[in-house]
Amino acid sequence: MKVLVVNCGSSSLKYQLVDMTDESVLAKGLVERIGIEGSILKHEKTGIDKVVIEKPMEDHKVAIGLVLDALVDEKHGAVKDMSEIAAVGHRVVHGGEKFNESVVITDEVMEAIEACSELAPLHNPANLMGINACKELMPTTPMVVVFDTAFHQTMPKESYIYALPYELYENYGVRRYGFHGTSHKYVSERAAEFIGEKVEDLKIITCHLGNGASLAAIKDGKCLDTSMGFTPLEGLVMGTRCGDIDPAILTFVKDKENLDSNEINDLINKKSGVLGISGVSSDFRDIENAAEEGNERAQLALDIFDNRVRKYIGSYAATMGGVDVVVFTAGLGENSISNRADICNGLEFLGIKIDKDKNNIRGKDAVISTDDSKVKVLVIPTNEELMIARDAQALLK
Ligand code: ADP
Repeated sequence: MKVLVVNCGSSSLKYQLVDMTDESVLAKGLVERIGIEGSILKHEKTGIDKVVIEKPMEDHKVAIGLVLDALVDEKHGAVKDMSEIAAVGHRVVHGGEKFNESVVITDEVMEAIEACSELAPLHNPANLMGINACKELMPTTPMVVVFDTAFHQTMPKESYIYALPYELYENYGVRRYGFHGTSHKYVSERAAEFIGEKVEDLKIITCHLGNGASLAAIKDGKCLDTSMGFTPLEGLVMGTRCGDIDPAILTFVKDKENLDSNEINDLINKKSGVLGISGVSSDFRDIENAAEEGNERAQLALDIFDNRVRKYIGSYAATMGGVDVVVFTAGLGENSISNRADICNGLEFLGIKIDKDKNNIRGKDAVISTDDSKVKVLVIPTNEELMIARDAQALLK
């Protein structure tokens, strides 16, 4: 069975064609600047050089049409015929409280995703555009949606209710939802498999550290708590997002600088995080380089980032009554040797001990803790596309 995985943004689209017989990637690619001048498709058949297709793409339907053409192309395609694509798996950011697992797309599901758009105005409408375009171009192919929020729906009320008037939850759905769920689920399951244990027997803390970053406390395979909240802004310090702050700062700064709601949103989403602290960049590589060259604010940004991750690890160990496994994933978690070491430095009291040599790896499944470390620490590269393809296969079987 071959599954096409589609992850659609407002002006971009990522895709992967996965062969489920051995879970190999047959082809993948990225479309950028949909609906903007300079639309571009970069397509790559596994083992063959990238092709770049530059054509006007006024909307997602045109973009997906070009992706499908590339997938069946004689030279750089991966299937002979579209009928070989047995299913499409779509990533959708917000499933609200309605979806605690992936589902096959029906009219009712489409309406429910639309209803959740209010909670993810930048993401769900774009996801829907991708689904609609695929439905038009592949009317007989079954489609599945996988939600970023679904894995976190097992959280108990004490984790997801905010200390605000309860009516805000009842009337508007103001609560913690959590994001990166597909990644947290994948790396927790893969980590358990990698160390030869059952995920149901473990207390796992997963650290998804990329541009966007979140942690999850996963006990017996179920999410108990996660650091992102009503939106993907809460929790850790991120590339450009502030994470946890005193909410009173917002009204204070709003008045001082005479900002409107949009400008405040911009400030906390796009100008804060390690970019805001360091003034250097939102990219951790740039910040690590600057810190090495003696830039104090870059070093401060890294220290604040690490401290916040440590705080959450400690608090999630308390939430679960212990921790057996800590997993690092995503751009920074998979690749930054120094960052992993710095985060774990000081967590020895929890039974976390990193082996310097074992930690000297990037981007592959590995145990990086010492043999006598009570807690196993792992690096597991995330693979949300594979998780989506697996869910599609499971639902359509
Ligand atoms: P997202 O999907 O949220 O955009 P990624 O998971 O791709 O983000 O992570 C991107 C981040 O990972 C960037 O800040 C980048 O600097 C960081 N990163 C990638 N490779 C390395 C590396 N070798 N060392 C340090 N940071 C890295």
